[in-house]
Amino acid sequence: MNTLEGWIARPDGMQRGTVHVSDHIEAIDVDGPIVDVPTDGGPRILPGFIDPHVHGGGGGDAMDGPDGVRTLANYHLRRGTTTLYPTTITNPWRNVLTALHGINDVRQAQQNELLPDLPGAHLEGPFISPNRLGAQPDEAVLPTPERVKAILAMNVVRVVTIAPEIEGATEAAIRMAKAGIRISIGHTRANAETVQAFVDAVREAGGTIGFTHLFNAMGGLGGREPGIVGACLADPQAHAEMILDGHHVHFTSFLAAHAALQDRLLLVTDAIRATGLGDGPSELGGQAIEVLDGKATLPSGTLAGSVLTMDQALRNAVKVGLPLSTAAHLTSGAAAHYLGLNDRGRIEPGLRADLVTLDADLHVQSVLTAGRNVPGIG
Ligand SMILES: [Zn+2]
Repeated sequence: MNTLEGWIARPDGMQRGTVHVSDHIEAIDVDGPIVDVPTDGGPRILPGFIDPHVHGGGGGDAMDGPDGVRTLANYHLRRGTTTLYPTTITNPWRNVLTALHGINDVRQAQQNELLPDLPGAHLEGPFISPNRLGAQPDEAVLPTPERVKAILAMNVVRVVTIAPEIEGATEAAIRMAKAGIRISIGHTRANAETVQAFVDAVREAGGTIGFTHLFNAMGGLGGREPGIVGACLADPQAHAEMILDGHHVHFTSFLAAHAALQDRLLLVTDAIRATGLGDGPSELGGQAIEVLDGKATLPSGTLAGSVLTMDQALRNAVKVGLPLSTAAHLTSGAAAHYLGLNDRGRIEPGLRADLVTLDADLHVQSVLTAGRNVPGIG
């Protein structure tokens, strides 16, 4: 048994109290009113962050195989991420399958290691538009029945980014949705009508819809052309990822999206290998990139993922005006709801003891993953 004392993130604000934990949350004792802003410098206790879109960090990348997965998972764990989905990048098909095998190996061994929980992989590409690659290598392929079969046979993919307009996308998405995979629309040039028809077909099959890094690698919202962004914001059920690093999305666009999506907006990192390594040359999907002042770009100037961590995303959301408990939901509960992880994402008795404590400036002080303390933080 372990106890944490401080300001506990509640659905409607922060409240003073104590959290009693084993590998799950045993009990919560609260005291005093629920407030937007804690009134003293005590620790802020939040549900551990959940990152559904993360390529790398600390020098490791999901495409490297098991060692890379462990490196990135460890790196982000120390920034408060207690659940993550290692994310592949568009590459020759055999490389993608090899990467998924590596992710699966670590997932199956994770019980014996101090790692964040890895429920599965996010397959970002290769089923995307060759005309909206963003920083993805030019290796997009169609989601043929054979490729979908190979994915389903591995049973490790839990989220797939897919462009609705490519040949076979709807059939592929329906098959994957029926296997419980979240269908995330992204890297696409579809118009709103195509998106709507795709969304309807996936939902009819019982699927759950997300949008991959809203605003990035997709057209904008216009009055006469709502595009992907309009289709997303107008949808009463869709979830959407956002990279809140200050480079990918203007903070005002973030606030506009939050006003529309509320608790269906999820902050993700899209972090790459170079995250945590400072400025300098690095690599993404086999391409040379450069990190300068916290911004990763291809030689063309295109943004190449981020060097964001979830704790920084949380600080950015608070900096632009969100109450801490709301920001905590965007970094944890929103993703848990989207991904069907009913045993985490909130601080409630019976849930996994995935917790992060932060100081008054929202810097990570300690991390618990399933009740186990991550040593050497803060
Ligand atoms: Zn990505």
